[in-house]
Amino acid sequence: MFKKYFIGIDIGGTKIYGGLVSPSGKIARTVKVSTPSNARAGAILAALYQVIKDLLKEGNVPLKSIIGLGVAVPGVVDGNGRVVVTPNISLSGVDLKNILIKRYKTVVAVGNDVNFGLMGERWLGAAHKANNVVGIFPGTGVGGGVIAGGRMIDGAQGAAAELGHMIVDPNGPRCTCGNTGCLEALAGRWAIERDIRAAVKKGEKSLIVDIAGKELRQIKSGALKRALQAKDPLVTRVIRKSAEALGSACVSLNHIFNPEAFIFGGGVVESCGEHILPVIEKVLKQDPFFARLNSPRVLQAKLGDDAGMLGGVAAVRQECDPKDLKDSSYYPKIALTASQKVRVKGKLMPGAFFIRADGKVKEPGDITPSYLTESDLEVICRKGPEIFIIACAAGKKTSLAVKAAKFLKKKKIIPRALPLGEAVKLYSSSDDRRAILFNL
Ligand SMILES: [Zn+2]
Repeated sequence: MFKKYFIGIDIGGTKIYGGLVSPSGKIARTVKVSTPSNARAGAILAALYQVIKDLLKEGNVPLKSIIGLGVAVPGVVDGNGRVVVTPNISLSGVDLKNILIKRYKTVVAVGNDVNFGLMGERWLGAAHKANNVVGIFPGTGVGGGVIAGGRMIDGAQGAAAELGHMIVDPNGPRCTCGNTGCLEALAGRWAIERDIRAAVKKGEKSLIVDIAGKELRQIKSGALKRALQAKDPLVTRVIRKSAEALGSACVSLNHIFNPEAFIFGGGVVESCGEHILPVIEKVLKQDPFFARLNSPRVLQAKLGDDAGMLGGVAAVRQECDPKDLKDSSYYPKIALTASQKVRVKGKLMPGAFFIRADGKVKEPGDITPSYLTESDLEVICRKGPEIFIIACAAGKKTSLAVKAAKFLKKKKIIPRALPLGEAVKLYSSSDDRRAILFNL
C-alpha cells in the first residue's frame, strides 16, 4: 500500500511552487516552475498540471494516493473556488476548483494566497493553533488575512481582509487601487521605494544609492536591510514611517478583531523585521483603550516561501475524512536505549546530530556541539522553532557564544538545555514547534 499525501500549490506572479506533503505537514518533495508570462489561462493551467505530474513522478506516488489538492491563487477567489480577479496573471473568471476536481477526482480547495499563507502559519508556523489572528504581509504591496473565532474571514465575494487597502491616512498618498492613503501606499515596498527616490531626487545623501544603484529603479529588501544595518538616516526614517503606518493599522484591527497575535511576513519583514516589529509593538502598547488589557503578540511569520503551499494543504485538509489524516507525527520518534544510546525512527545514531523544526534529521557538519556560535544556530534553527532543546549525554556540556544567545532572544526562541532523558521526554511531548541538538 502506498502512503497517502496531499499536494499544495502556490501560484505566484513569477513562480508556480508545488509540494507533496504528508498529512501531518512534512514536505516530501517540492517542484518549482516559472509562471508563463503574458499567457492565457490555458498555459497557466498546463504549467500547474505539469507541477502536479512532476511531484507524483519524483515522489513515486500514484494519483490515487493523493487525498487532497490545495491551490493558492494571487487574487480574489469566491466561496466556490472560482477565481474572480487575479490582477497579475490571467486566471480571472476561471472555475479552477471544478476544473481540478474533474481532472483529478480528489478533494480540492482553491483560495487567496495570503489567506492560505495565514492558514499555513496557523497549522505549522507562527500562529500555531491561534483562533484569532491577523496576518499582514508587506511585499511589493501589502497582503492581509484574518482568522476570527477559528474561521477565515472571506466576505461575501471572497474579497475580505484586503488589509493593504485599509485607509490609514485620508490625506495620504494615492494608492495603486485608486484610493488615497491606503496602508499599502504608506508601507508597501513600492511606497518605501517612492519615498526613498523622492528624497534622493531632492538631494539627500544615502548609502542606498551605492547599494541599489543610482536610478533606484527597484530597491530589494536585502538592500534595505544593508542600509538599515549601516544606520543610513534616510532608509531608517522611511522604514520607521512605514512601520508606524503598520502600527496604526494594527491599532484599528485590534479594536475590530482583538486577536491573540499579529503575524507579519513577506520580503520586507523577512529582511528588516527587527527594525519594524518593535515599532509596531510600541504603537500597539500606546493605545489607551487597551491599557488594562493584554496587547496582542507581534510575531514574524515562520514558513517563508512554503506558507502558501502548506496553507493550500491546511485548507483542503479541513475537508477530508479524519481517518485519512492519521499519520505518524510531524516529528520523528526518538527513543533512548538502556545504555543511553539514541534511536531515531528505530535507527541507532552514531554521534551528535540535530533535528530542525521541520522534522528533518541532520548531521552536525561544521557545528561543534559543545560550543554553539550564532551561525551554528542559524543553521539549526532554520524553519522557525519556538523552543530549542539541547540534549546532553552524561559528561557532555554545551555552551553558547554571546551572539548565539542574543540570536535566540531576538528570534524569540526559548533554549532548554537538559540531560538526555528529560530532553527526549520534552521533545516527544511538546506542542511547540521545536528543534533539538544532541550532544552525544
Ligand atoms: Zn489601495
